Amino acid sequence: MAAETAALLHKLGVESHRVTRGSLATRSPITGEIIARVESADSNIAQQTIARAEDAFHIWRNVPAPRRGEFVRLLGEELRAAKAELARLVTIEAGKITTEGLGEIQEMIDICDFAVGLSRQLHGLTIATERRGHRMMETWHPLGVAGVITSFNFPVAVWAWNVALALVCGNSLVWKPSEKTPLVALATQALVERAAARFGDAPDGLSTVLVGGRDIGEALVEDARIRLLSATGSTAMGRAVAPRLARRFARSILELGGNNAAIVCASAPLDLAVRAIAFAAMGTAGQRCTTLRRLIVHEDAYDELLNRLRRAYASVPVGDPRDGASLIGPLIDASAYSAMRAALDEARDAGGVVFGGERVLADEYPEAYYVRPALIDMPAQTEVVRRETFAPILYVMKFRSLDEAIALNNEVAHGLASSIFTARLDEAERFMAADGSDCGIANVNIGPSGAEIGGAFGGEKDTGGGREAGSDCWKAYMRRATNTINYSGELPLAQGVKFDLDA
Ligand code: NAD
Repeated sequence: MAAETAALLHKLGVESHRVTRGSLATRSPITGEIIARVESADSNIAQQTIARAEDAFHIWRNVPAPRRGEFVRLLGEELRAAKAELARLVTIEAGKITTEGLGEIQEMIDICDFAVGLSRQLHGLTIATERRGHRMMETWHPLGVAGVITSFNFPVAVWAWNVALALVCGNSLVWKPSEKTPLVALATQALVERAAARFGDAPDGLSTVLVGGRDIGEALVEDARIRLLSATGSTAMGRAVAPRLARRFARSILELGGNNAAIVCASAPLDLAVRAIAFAAMGTAGQRCTTLRRLIVHEDAYDELLNRLRRAYASVPVGDPRDGASLIGPLIDASAYSAMRAALDEARDAGGVVFGGERVLADEYPEAYYVRPALIDMPAQTEVVRRETFAPILYVMKFRSLDEAIALNNEVAHGLASSIFTARLDEAERFMAADGSDCGIANVNIGPSGAEIGGAFGGEKDTGGGREAGSDCWKAYMRRATNTINYSGELPLAQGVKFDLDA
């Protein structure tokens, strides 16, 4: 696989010396073998890169937004042209099955398209004023250097959500990808450089990458020149960075963990629900932030649904994600596997009946971690169920009333994604109402995962409160100014205040 990786990186424009020497060994979760070695940035390089980004910002903020959109359009073209190779690299480095690797790159292309349109739509309001001969409006301006920290499981799409919006909004960017997936980051950066060369006069340092671990992430968190930090990863990471950003009043977009539930009502269309649940709970080997982890089922539908899910779980093909027949690839590494085993043991101790969950293909791939997804019949929402374990484990619980089901949905610390399966309008509406699901995503008759880029993506509570991608998320990347213009020739003060000075 090292040879294929080298060939892909070469084709994507990464110089070979960047991926053959260095202290950071990159492994493929498919076999556990080392496929490349990259050099980590140090704090000097981080400082220099941020300084270049700041200089770039001072130029970029004055480039008209539709022209900035042209850069993103070119980036989208580069992504289209390189889609197959970049997706294959995602499969090799993150272990996603082929269609999910392709889907990840498609998401990058989609957000570029969205941002190109947005570059002609960065609009403010004109607001009625109380003063005669005045006009009040708001304008939106570029903010500064944006830092982006990303997780291993969406190694490039999450960066794209940020870069596409940040660039059209007039910011520069510094990206710290996951230390588990530096290769796709370097390959993506090579595409940024191709787009920059075609664009012509993009400032040096406009969008750069810093490969490294937590220390490089911390360098972005601490640097006052980083005006906005978008950080995607575990809640533990968010808890570490949020107070440090708050201390220097930096803006943040925090996209953290999830412990997502689906409610299946007695009226639910079960054929559709089974297919939706299977993808949401088992897809990406349970390593999506939006993975379905808790299933809350009406007692009348419980036995039938559990039986049908058992059949689906027993038949789902697990294996090498490069093989078109596999639907479940490997876990990212040994620590993910240990966390899964520990959660299964804890669930058994709490009275859960575990179906599946065992390691497979260990003889063929002793250094890789393939598991059968686990389905657990749980007597209650115990401590282990209330935690996010980043692995394919689905806890199934019973409910009687919708109030009880919504309370279970909301009882956990996270608030990312949720769904209800029902044929009843009243149940669907209640779930989406103020006293319904408390999550950032609340779906009806589809699973909680697999969001489109047109909507705002993110969640509440321990998920961090950030929103990315579509809708009006661009506003987080800009500073808002309120402008009052007086064309009356007089000086009426607001709120009727008199300040008559003989001058
Ligand atoms: P992680 O928290 O281990 O690492 C994420 C990134 O944060 C990495 O780049 C890492 O180097 C960096 N980092 C870690 N500690 C840091 C610190 N103290 N300061 C600065 N940077 C630091 O997460 P992971 O294992 O890569 O990803 C899985 C987690 O990410 C899951 O919890 C998942 O739910 C979450 N996730 C959330 C979203 C979302 O949009 N809400 C999307 C994808 C993944």
